[in-house]
Amino acid sequence: MRIIYQLTQWDRPQLTRQQTSSKTADGRRLHVEFLKTAPALKDCPPPEQPEIAFAGRSNAGKSSVLNRLTGSRQTAKVSKTPGRTQALNLFDVRGGGRLVDLPGYGYAKASKAAQSVWQGNVNNYLSNRESLAALVLVMDIRHPLTAYDEELLQWAFNSELPVLALLNKADKLKHGQRQQTLLKVKKRLQTQPLAKVLLFSAQSGLGCDQAISLIESWLGHPGSGG
Ligand code: GDP
Repeated sequence: MRIIYQLTQWDRPQLTRQQTSSKTADGRRLHVEFLKTAPALKDCPPPEQPEIAFAGRSNAGKSSVLNRLTGSRQTAKVSKTPGRTQALNLFDVRGGGRLVDLPGYGYAKASKAAQSVWQGNVNNYLSNRESLAALVLVMDIRHPLTAYDEELLQWAFNSELPVLALLNKADKLKHGQRQQTLLKVKKRLQTQPLAKVLLFSAQSGLGCDQAISLIESWLGHPGSGG
């Protein structure tokens, strides 16, 4: 049963200095086509296709993740176009289903008024969109499970919505630190059968294949096991 989503907390980005390394990219991608910018739920197209919503704190790398998964820099550029940053941006996926880029949260420079419009629209979409099939939560691996992430996860668990937590920017941590964070987040999710976590790097492509497989299965693509 879907429950009403009520965001109550905001957090601010923190800055740390970390090493950067890179890995080879893989070749798979989700083929998408921009469908529509919807300022609010009422502007969304009819809910006739399963939708995967992408959420994440501003600067966690949600745009870069979308670009990596779709193999196109154009994807997130659409969402970052002025006038669209506080809206829901919908993309059709070849083979069926949609990706929905939710506005990033916790942008320190956003006004209180802008934040409250954002909150209302996102709460409404998450609470009432019948076609919402799953949630991808993009986190910066150096700052996982912020208060807002926790709220969103808890809501998804209570709503029995499948979740993929992506620990993005994994290339910024050394192997040991990565594994430590992965373990911590896995522990947090271990009681949730519908939640998965992956190490991810939009920069290197780490985790991209597994994320695409899961998304395709959520969207019911043939051969995906979904
Ligand atoms: P958004 O605000 O969540 O959409 O974040 P962006 O995609 O705009 O990324 C914020 C910053 O993080 C940019 O400078 C990106 O180049 C950088 N970034 C995003 N993903 C990665 C990653 O996997 N590795 C590294 N090293 N940097 C990344």
